Amino acid sequence: MASTSSPTSLAIGVDLGGTHCLAALMDYSGTVYARHHAKISAAERGSRDTIARALSGAIFEVWKHARDEHPACLPLRGVGIAVPGNVDPIKGLARYLPNFGWLEPVDLAALVLDCEVSHDDKPAKRPRGAPKCLRDLLGVDRIHIRNDGRCAALAERHFGVGASGEHEVLAMLTLGTGIGGALIHNPSPERVGSLFDGCSFDAGDFGHHVLRSGDEAFACVCGNRGCFECHASAAGLVRHWRALGGEEHLVSLDDAKTVVEKMRSGEPTAVAAWRAYRADLAAGLANLVTFYNPSAIVLGGGLARTPELYDGLAAAIDASTLPATRGRCAVLQSALSGDCAAIGAAWLVFSETDGGAEKTPAATATPAPPPPTDAPAGGGGVVVSVGLVCLDATVWVAAPPVADTKSVAERSLTCGGGNAANASVAAARLQAPVRLVTKVGADVHGEVLRAELRRDGVDLRWCSTARAGATDCATPTSLITVCGAARTIVHDPGLLRSDPLLPAEFDPTAAATTEEGAVPAWLEGAALLSLDGRHPAAALHAARCAMAAGVPILLDVERPRPGLEDLMQLADYVVSASDFPEKLRRARAGNAGGDGGEWTDPAAAAEYLLIVCPRARWVCLTLGAEGALAVERGSRGKVTRVPAWPLPASAAGKVRDTTGAGDAFIGATAAGLRRGLPLPDILRLASCVAATNCCADGARGGMPTLAELPQELRALLEA
Ligand SMILES: [Zn+2]
Repeated sequence: MASTSSPTSLAIGVDLGGTHCLAALMDYSGTVYARHHAKISAAERGSRDTIARALSGAIFEVWKHARDEHPACLPLRGVGIAVPGNVDPIKGLARYLPNFGWLEPVDLAALVLDCEVSHDDKPAKRPRGAPKCLRDLLGVDRIHIRNDGRCAALAERHFGVGASGEHEVLAMLTLGTGIGGALIHNPSPERVGSLFDGCSFDAGDFGHHVLRSGDEAFACVCGNRGCFECHASAAGLVRHWRALGGEEHLVSLDDAKTVVEKMRSGEPTAVAAWRAYRADLAAGLANLVTFYNPSAIVLGGGLARTPELYDGLAAAIDASTLPATRGRCAVLQSALSGDCAAIGAAWLVFSETDGGAEKTPAATATPAPPPPTDAPAGGGGVVVSVGLVCLDATVWVAAPPVADTKSVAERSLTCGGGNAANASVAAARLQAPVRLVTKVGADVHGEVLRAELRRDGVDLRWCSTARAGATDCATPTSLITVCGAARTIVHDPGLLRSDPLLPAEFDPTAAATTEEGAVPAWLEGAALLSLDGRHPAAALHAARCAMAAGVPILLDVERPRPGLEDLMQLADYVVSASDFPEKLRRARAGNAGGDGGEWTDPAAAAEYLLIVCPRARWVCLTLGAEGALAVERGSRGKVTRVPAWPLPASAAGKVRDTTGAGDAFIGATAAGLRRGLPLPDILRLASCVAATNCCADGARGGMPTLAELPQELRALLEA
C-alpha cells in the first residue's frame, strides 16, 4: 500500500460513509501512502461526537504515518472531507445529512478540528506539551469539504478515466441507492479539472431532475416523484422490477445484482425491467448531454460494472439529443475503486491550496471574470503589444500588371504595417506609452521598420531580430497593387514561417519556474496587454504572464489562426472583424459550412464570441461603414452601438485607403482601456481614429495624434 517514492507534500482526504469512514494520505500525483478505516456503529450514527471521533481518529492515524515516515512533509497541506450530503464549503458546514439524521447545519470543520486526538497515541511516546486537538496538531484552521459524489468525480477526472485530460467537460454519476453526480470542467488554465459548483455549491445533483410524471413516476426521498435517481439508480432497477410484477420480498432495494442475474437468465419480468431501466437511464443521460454538452459521462457504483449496461447506451442517448451533440459524448465506466471519494477529497486540498497561498473556496468556485470596474484605472501604465510588424509596399497602377511585361506605376508608398505595429502607433499617437514585443528580419526592411516605429515613440527594447542570412527569415512583407478599387496583395510571412518570435527571446525567465509574484521586465508597469494573434507561442506566453500579473488582455481577432483559440480563452476584451465569428464557426465545423448560414444580426455573432471567449468582459465587432457594436457579459444582451465616425472635413468626404483601419481601432481601444474609459467612449474614440486613418494612404498614414482629435474625444484622454 505504501509507496517507496518520497513525497514532497501530502494531504489527507476522508470519505465519511454511513457505516465507516476512510482516511487516505495522498500526494499531488494521487499516490496513497497510508489508509485508515474507522467504523461507525449504526446505533451511534446520529451522534455528532461519534462522527467527530471517527473522523478525527482516522485523520490522526494517517497523520501519524506521515509524522513517522515522511516527517519532511509536515505540516501537511491540509485535510479534505467527502460528506454524504449537502455542504457549505466556505463555512465548513454539513448543511443537510439525512443519512445521519442531521437536518440542521452542523459545523463539521470545528467539530473535527476541536476533537482531542491524544487519546489514541501511545502516551509514553507523546512528548510533553504535545498538542491535544487536531487543529493544533495539523496547524490548520480550516477543512476542505465537499459532497462525496463531487469528490468521487474529482478523483475520476484526475486519477481515473479522465486522467489524460482529454475530456474538458466531464460528467460523473454514481449509480447506487441514489445517484450522486458532478460536472467537471476547465474554467481557466489554472483550474483545469474543477467542479462546476453552481452559485451555492449545489450544482451536480443530477439524481433529482424530474424524468417521469403521472402513474409511471416512482416516489423519491426528496419528496418529489419521478426523479432520475428513483428510476435510474441501482435501486431504480429493483423498482422497475417490482413495478412490472416482480415480488417485493424476493429482492430488496439494495440488491440490483439479483435483478441483473435474473435478466441474464432470461426471466421475462427482469428482462422487461432491464429494458425499462435502460430507457430511463438513457433519457436522463440525454438530458445531461443537452444541458452541458460533456465529451464523457463516467458511470460509477456497483451497477456500472455491468457490461450489458453499455450495449447501445450511447446510441440510445443520441436518439434523444440534438444533432449537434450526437456522437460527441462517450459513456465510460469508472476506473477507480471504493476509495475514490477520499482521494478526491485529498485532491480538493491541493487544488484549493495551490501555490502555497490559501485560496478561498469562494475564489475557486467562481470562474466568472473579474468585475468590469477594475479596468486599468487612473490612466497610468504601459500598453504592451505582442504581435506582427511587416513592411507594406504599395503601387498604384492604371491597369493590372501582366506577366512578362514591364509597366509604370502612378505612384508608390513603402511603409510599416502589421497589426500589432499599426495598433502600437495608433496608441502612441494618442500619448499612450507603448512597448512593442515583436520580431524583424536581419535585413534592411527590419531596420526601416524599427526606425519608423521609434519615430512614433514606440519602445522597441523587446523587439527581436531573426537569424541573419537564413532563408525564410526575412522581415514579413506585403506587396500591394492598387488598380482602381481593386487591391491585390501578395504577402510573404518571412520569418513567421520558420523563425517566429519565441518566449525566451524577450523573456529570459520564460523557461525557468518564475518566482511567485515576479513580473518579467517586458511586462513591468503594464496597464494592458494587446495581442493580434501572431507569433502564437510568444503571444500565449505573454498572455499567461499578464494573467498571472493581473494585467488585462485585449485580443484582436481577424481570422482563425493556429493558437488563436488558446488566446481567446484568456482575453478580457475582444475586438473582432465583422466576419470573424462566421469564419470561426465554419472552421470549428470543419469547413463543412455548418447549418443555417451566416448571422444576419451582428449582435448575435458578438454574443457567440462572448460564449467562446469565456473570460471576455465585452466583445466588439467592427462593421466598417456601419460603425461598431459591442456586447458586454452579464448585461442580458445589452448592445452598445456607435455609427461610423464622420470623415474629417479635410478629407472632403472621401475614403482614401482603408488599410490599417482595424488596427487603428485596436490601438485607440487600448489607449481608451488604459485610461479606464467607459465602453461607449472607447467605441467612439476608436471609431474616430479608424475613420480618420482612412483619409490618407498607408496603414498608418492617417492615424491622428491626440492634438488632431476632435475636442470632445481629446478631453476624454486628457481628463
Ligand atoms: Zn428526488
